[in-house]
Amino acid sequence: MLAYIGLGSNLNNPKQQIKDALIALNSAADVEVVSLSSLYRSPPLDATKQPDYLNAVCEVNTHLTALELLYVCQNIETEQHRVREKKWGARTIDLDILIYGVQVVASKQLVVPHPEMMNRAFVLVPLAEIEPDLKVPILGDIQELIAKIDVSKLVKL
Ligand code: ATP
Ligand code: CA
Ligand code: CA
Repeated sequence: MLAYIGLGSNLNNPKQQIKDALIALNSAADVEVVSLSSLYRSPPLDATKQPDYLNAVCEVNTHLTALELLYVCQNIETEQHRVREKKWGARTIDLDILIYGVQVVASKQLVVPHPEMMNRAFVLVPLAEIEPDLKVPILGDIQELIAKIDVSKLVKL
C-alpha cells in the first residue's frame, strides 16, 4: 500500500525533528519511505506567537493497516518528546496520515484522507511536488485543490 504522511515541527530544531522522524519512519518494521518533498516554511495556522512551522510530506510503502501506521506515527511523536497540549499548539513533531491508498476511513481515531488537508498549503503543495498528477480519494485532483487555496505564505526551502 502507498500512503502519504505529512510531517510538521516548530520547536527544538524543526529541521532535525523532521529528519529524525523520517529516519524513524523508515526504520519501522514494514514501512519504507519511497519519496520525500522539499521542506517548506509557513506561519502557524492560528497566527499566535508560536514560531513558524517547517513541513514536508513523504510517501511510504507499507503492508501495515492504516491504523497500525497511525500507531507507528504516534510512537515516533512520543519518542521525539511531543507534549500534547492544546490543539494546534507548538510541537516538536506532528505526523499526520494524509492518504492511505484509495481507502476512506472515518473512525474516532483515524480520518483518511486527512479532513483538513484540502485547506492547507503546507500539505497540498509538498504533496503535489512528489505526485503532481495525484487524485486524492473523495477530494479529487491535487492541482485543482491547490488552485482553491492561498499558497502565498508558504516558502519552499
Ligand atoms: P490536525 O489533525 O488538525 O492536523 P493535530 O495534528 O494538531 O491537528 P493531533 O493532536 O496531532 O492533532 O491529533 C489528534 C488526534 O487526531 C489523534 O489522536 C488521532 O487519533 C486523530 N487523527 C484522526 N485522523 C488522523 C490522521 N489522518 N492522521 C493522524 N491523526 C489522526
Ligand atoms: Ca496536524
Ligand atoms: Ca496530528
